[in-house]
Amino acid sequence: MSDCIFCKIAAGEIPAAFVGETGEFVAFKDINPVAPVHLLVIPRRHVTSIDGIEELGEGTAGRLLSFTVAMARAAGIAESGYRVITNAGPDAGQEVAHMHWHILGGRRLKGLG
Ligand code: 5GP
Ligand code: ZN
Repeated sequence: MSDCIFCKIAAGEIPAAFVGETGEFVAFKDINPVAPVHLLVIPRRHVTSIDGIEELGEGTAGRLLSFTVAMARAAGIAESGYRVITNAGPDAGQEVAHMHWHILGGRRLKGLG
């Protein structure tokens, strides 16, 4: 999508601190981190949220999870633990309408709720 900030990051049109990428996905540092490790994982293909997961297809959707775990391991937080979150829609507070998965770690996170 031409006016989507995460599409532009994936295309290299807007700078971001990439930590990993494949032909299908990109991982980069969140610009406003809320934990010592705060990464975002996105598919290069524009999908509005997890609620559009079917548009990715099952193969890509499955690889997205594996890529997310690989990024957490590469960040060195697999042993200490980490949280993976994706927000979908207004009640979840989704700010960027391109599906993204937050990886949070490096400190003890509060419980949900
Ligand atoms: P959401 O609330 O949609 O789940 O999360 C959007 C996230 O994207 C926020 O944590 C915000 O800090 C991050 N973000 C928004 N714009 C940019 C940007 O231009 N670059 C990077 N690296 N992160 C961004
Ligand atoms: Zn997009």
